[in-house]
Amino acid sequence: MIVNGATTSGELRAHNRVRLLRAVHDTGAARTRSRLTRDLGLARGTASVLVAGLAEDELLHEGPAPGHARGRPTQVPGPHPRGPIALAVDVREDVWELAACELGGRVTILAVRPHDGTPEGTLGPLGAAIAGHAARFGHRVIGVGVALAGPVRHGGLVDISHLGWRSVDVPALLGLGSGTSPEGRPAAYPEGRRDADTAPGDPDIRPGDADTGPGDPDIRPGDADTGPGDAGGRPGGLLGAPVVGNDTVLAALAEARRGKLRDVRVGLHLHVDFDLGGVLVVDGRPVAGAGGAGAEFGHMPLTGNRRRCPCGAVGCWGMDVGANALLRHAGLAHGSGRGREQAEHVLATSEEAVTVTARALGRGIAALVNAHDPEVVTLSGHGADLLERAGAALRAACEPGLMAIRRDAPPRIEGTALGWRGALLGAMESVFDAFLTTEGLELWRKNHPDQGRDTPERQSVTHSTRKGESAT
Ligand SMILES: [Zn+2]
Repeated sequence: MIVNGATTSGELRAHNRVRLLRAVHDTGAARTRSRLTRDLGLARGTASVLVAGLAEDELLHEGPAPGHARGRPTQVPGPHPRGPIALAVDVREDVWELAACELGGRVTILAVRPHDGTPEGTLGPLGAAIAGHAARFGHRVIGVGVALAGPVRHGGLVDISHLGWRSVDVPALLGLGSGTSPEGRPAAYPEGRRDADTAPGDPDIRPGDADTGPGDPDIRPGDADTGPGDAGGRPGGLLGAPVVGNDTVLAALAEARRGKLRDVRVGLHLHVDFDLGGVLVVDGRPVAGAGGAGAEFGHMPLTGNRRRCPCGAVGCWGMDVGANALLRHAGLAHGSGRGREQAEHVLATSEEAVTVTARALGRGIAALVNAHDPEVVTLSGHGADLLERAGAALRAACEPGLMAIRRDAPPRIEGTALGWRGALLGAMESVFDAFLTTEGLELWRKNHPDQGRDTPERQSVTHSTRKGESAT
């Protein structure tokens, strides 16, 4: 076996630890040890030693395969009950959602809060919530990933034009470093790398699983004796500067890892909330531009309107697609990041508004398909709703815009597999990408001097509802 750069047995072991954890994470902690051993081309003895070491380090815990009835018991490596937690946040224009995410992708929602739309009113309470939960989870927290509904530059400066945000320093307002300093880069763990040879599996979180409310006991704090707030925004453990990303980029990343862009070479992902974002995804990676602010297909003049967009340009496609456009068609106030419920009502009741919006979405998709030749176009947020409610109108508006050479085999247009959770899951992935490296795992070991007790029973964490492929 050829292993990039691993020349000593110690390096090889470190490399294989990363590969095994990455495979467990990407396949939803649903594959048996023997299947993973085969997938990774490991010797059985090597895999045993690796799993034992990772259990000792409180990174993995093995349990029996669900539904296993006969013969030799089959073990499934999954998250350790005292294992790493990524805190992930989806900040929308009117509400934020904070979650704890384990290896394998299981998500537990910790808090959902509406906000006033100002940078301080949004990020101040969010920073306090992050600090409180980070203190509770202590050294288990490996990082914070934050998705926001606007372009992100320099690792943390965010513009949300509808809300009047201009170069808002998100890490600074969260009390977690600064987007304008080197500290604004993920500090605890290095830039993520990814082995491409592990196949992703089913996600744990599906549309309809979104009912885990605040306080869900699915994940419990460890033996931490520090109460919320004790940490003053810089809790102990491994928490560094947050990884801040655009919601569309992160939704696309999640779609590539756990959704309908898995194993797709060139795909296009469009995320529609109050307006529209879009990004090209190549070999599983969203093409987010040189400075990270590239997922802005919504600010291209693809539909011929002449409206001035809050972004400063005229005629943006995003003016015609999303909750703001639905509200405008219904004659309601729009454009300030408010009116989600009214927009959902319009979506559910006004065939005309839905059809007009779906047509605008289809026309823009045709232009992007001509430019990029994707295999599949995936839609999340209201994009999936528009496809479901008015798919025929959307496709009918798309087709005449396609070049003749594209019409025989136009790309599939599909709704997301991840519901409204894409941005949150992508924020989680960005944290695990930084963690699942030899350097990240080494930092974890250094921060766990008293590990070596694989006795998770004492923690009473249930692992009863893991979904995924059948164990083989
Ligand atoms: Zn614009």
